[in-house]
Amino acid sequence: MTAAITARRYYPETDITLIRKEEKALIPCGIPYIFGTLDSAEKNLIPDQILTNNNINLVIDSVSSINRDTKSVATASGKNFDYDRLVLATGSYPLIPPISGVDLNNVYAVKKDLEYLKDLSAKLDSSKDVVVIGGGFIGLEFADEFMKRGNLNVTIIELLSHCLLLACDEGICKLVEKKLTERGVNIMSGTKAKAILGKNNAEYVELEKGEKIKADTVILGIGVRPNVDLALDCGLAADKKEGIQVDDFMRTTDQNIFAIGDCAKKRCYLSGLPKGVWLASMGTTEARIAGANLFNVRRRSDCAIGIFSTCFGDLAIGSAGLTESAAKEMGMDVVTGEAVAPDKHPGSLPGAQELGIKLIFEKDTGLLIGGQIYGGASVGEKINFIGALIQHKMRADEVCTFQMGTHPLLTASPIAYQLINAAQLAIMKLGK
Ligand SMILES: Cc1cc2nc3c(=O)[nH]c(=O)nc-3n(C[C@H](O)[C@H](O)[C@H](O)COP(=O)(O)OP(=O)(O)OC[C@H]3O[C@@H](n4cnc5c(N)ncnc54)[C@H](O)[C@@H]3O)c2cc1C
Repeated sequence: MTAAITARRYYPETDITLIRKEEKALIPCGIPYIFGTLDSAEKNLIPDQILTNNNINLVIDSVSSINRDTKSVATASGKNFDYDRLVLATGSYPLIPPISGVDLNNVYAVKKDLEYLKDLSAKLDSSKDVVVIGGGFIGLEFADEFMKRGNLNVTIIELLSHCLLLACDEGICKLVEKKLTERGVNIMSGTKAKAILGKNNAEYVELEKGEKIKADTVILGIGVRPNVDLALDCGLAADKKEGIQVDDFMRTTDQNIFAIGDCAKKRCYLSGLPKGVWLASMGTTEARIAGANLFNVRRRSDCAIGIFSTCFGDLAIGSAGLTESAAKEMGMDVVTGEAVAPDKHPGSLPGAQELGIKLIFEKDTGLLIGGQIYGGASVGEKINFIGALIQHKMRADEVCTFQMGTHPLLTASPIAYQLINAAQLAIMKLGK
């Protein structure tokens, strides 16, 4: 949708057609909230009016093949569409773990499919014990929303020593685990799900050490794989794990075909190595670049920083760029600065909440390479700001002297401003 709307802005005279399988498009990031906060899947739809308002033809069909010689696509219903430029935004598939029992009834992957999710919601009404396999941000969001239904015992099984460990350092992971435990979720980390047991329906999840956890419903939330089927079939360079190869202009190995979003390969902004940043925020950035570049190259894509945030009750957290542990694993020498203060000043103001920021800098250069944050609702935008500092290659001394605006009801005090103080503390460690 974002690519089509951007293309309309830059190329007002062009015919633009969007071909989509689903009759109705879900807001993917809103899927967990269907099961608790929103109380129905219909409240989580993207209105197609956005397309009609922008004079974009919407076709509900499935593209079955791409013919690059005739520059046309064929659909499952037998139609053909010619193109001058084609944008692949085929998304991703949920990853299914290679364990027995994943095909039993009552085992659900996280699919962006309205009817499938409605079926899951109905199943939850008659369930008592739910097991979520995978403690990444999507698994945790599902678990927290399930608790809001009031009828469920919810257990998360996470392979790593902590939930969220691929996105955050241990400190924030522990804060989140504590909050979810207080909200009633049972967290079992450092544990591998070995099999799902049952005759027709799932009944238990068996762990590696033999323990069995009761389960009427099992959710598989272990990640995604890019959907590169059409790209591979028509001979574009693509990898089933990493995605469709694209240049900085979002063009595939065919100059007339672009790829964006979860299906397109991403590279880490520091190492340049392939990195799985499957986020709507990244996808729409790429869509804006591709939409602008269709007939004239205008924009270049930066490598992926990976900026995300989430929230459980009154605890919001965010992460941008590399974690301290990931940077060290990569062989980097880093220093960190951490600062905590109330998010209003004075801290005695109603609604004031503790807000903590951790910044990670490369030791040799002082370059900001990552940041993490916890606190209240302002975390969502603050982590975006940290992401912008990383994208613009700011050093600790520059972060430390950046000019901010503060207000008692809206921010920390200028004296205790966490971002600046975290940078200042890191500078002291850098010895500069
Ligand atoms: C539960 C959940 C929560 C998330 N939360 C967040 C969040 O908070 N923030 C964030 O940034 N990201 C989040 N994400 C990730 C985000 O949803 C994805 O990165 C984003 O949806 C990718 O967008 P996309 O357009 O590339 O692919 P998709 O959203 O997967 O869309 C691809 C579309 O292409 C269609 N399609 C595929 N093949 C064909 C074909 N052959 N013919 C026709 N149509 C086809 C699909 O049916 C689908 O409609 C979340 C994901 C999930 C599942």
